[in-house]
Amino acid sequence: MSTKKNFWIGLPMQMMYGLVLGVIVGTMVSSEFGATYLQPLGQLFIRLIRMVVVPLVVATLIAGSAGLGDASKIGKIAVKTILFFAITTAIAVTIGLIVANFMEPGTGLTISVEGLKAKAAAAPPLSKVLLEIVPINPIEAFAKGNMLQVIFFSIFFGFCLSLMGDSVRMVTDFFQKVGDVMIRMTNYVMLYAPIGVFGLIAYTVTRHGLAVLLPLGKLILTAFIATLIFVCITYLPIIKLIGMKISDYLKGAFEPWLIAFTTCSSAAALAVNLEASRKMGASKAIASFAIPLGNTINMNGTSIYMGVTAVFAAEVFGIDLTLAQQFQIVLMGVLAAVGTAGVPGAGLIMTTLVFTEVGIPLEAVALIAGIDRILDMIRTSVNVLGDSLTALVVSKSEGVLGTELMDQDTVVKEQL
Ligand code: ASP
Repeated sequence: MSTKKNFWIGLPMQMMYGLVLGVIVGTMVSSEFGATYLQPLGQLFIRLIRMVVVPLVVATLIAGSAGLGDASKIGKIAVKTILFFAITTAIAVTIGLIVANFMEPGTGLTISVEGLKAKAAAAPPLSKVLLEIVPINPIEAFAKGNMLQVIFFSIFFGFCLSLMGDSVRMVTDFFQKVGDVMIRMTNYVMLYAPIGVFGLIAYTVTRHGLAVLLPLGKLILTAFIATLIFVCITYLPIIKLIGMKISDYLKGAFEPWLIAFTTCSSAAALAVNLEASRKMGASKAIASFAIPLGNTINMNGTSIYMGVTAVFAAEVFGIDLTLAQQFQIVLMGVLAAVGTAGVPGAGLIMTTLVFTEVGIPLEAVALIAGIDRILDMIRTSVNVLGDSLTALVVSKSEGVLGTELMDQDTVVKEQL
């Protein structure tokens, strides 16, 4: 099946049609109609796709870390991956801050925050955060979907498998196959994606008509420009550096991006992102390690958002942020983004950590909440792109970019 021939009727285009139709229908119907008939269409899609996340992460991370090779190789790849996550995340918050300082999204805003209440997510001590990455009961962590705990256990388990080698080959193969089955399952779920995307977008438009956007339009614009600048000065040069054509990357990452954009959930885009990065040439073992890991801890879009919203909120409340405070925002923004779950709206809750850190009143959260869905679409897009890029960069640095053949799953998907 040639991609060219089917471009206009392929799944990504069908999702695009769903998106456009959703915008049109969303402007034509009432918000009650949206909540009753359109929202469930979108929710069904999110539920279906999130259903695969825990088994997929467990299976791919176990098989992924088992397949990375000996202990020193695992360590090397893990360090490279996490370093890439950390550096891009810190750059992202900083760019968010700089662009927001320049554009001043909150000045001149006279919105009453009376009656708005926001609950603080009390910042737990760092030692507690770190301790809680270790699950007491892995089964409980799986059941509750506590992703950091799931990741810790899975990588540790995969690491032991790799050390035990052939004597446990059956177990490694088992998890490998479970991962393949979960990807196949996602492929079937994706057949529903165009309708799901339609429902999600149409409902969003019925809820946040243009009138809601106008007063906070400058905040949305600032977040958008900061994100665009971040992508242009970090991602695009990196894509060139690893010898890929930017157009190839954008085409390859289109499907996961569209899912991220419409669902506002990195977790929902996980399976498709994994497959897309492998199609673009990331090694199977590296992608199976970096993508599920990045899905939870690598949130470049959310980091930009932390910087932008902090400046916005400070301006709305007439607070002058000192340089030291802006530095605090970078540090706290990185931690908050790492702790953000890959689900819609998670970043908004985590902004309270950043705001509390520099003394911004939490009413600002309620102010942003009205348009957060739009900001979420922007930030989740970048969160997902950052993961596939990491898989490609680490594959390149290990000299394995593009050396593996596209596997059977992809072929089957195209035949569906
Ligand atoms: N919705 C984002 C994601 O899934 C997280 C966030 O709210 O910042 O990646």
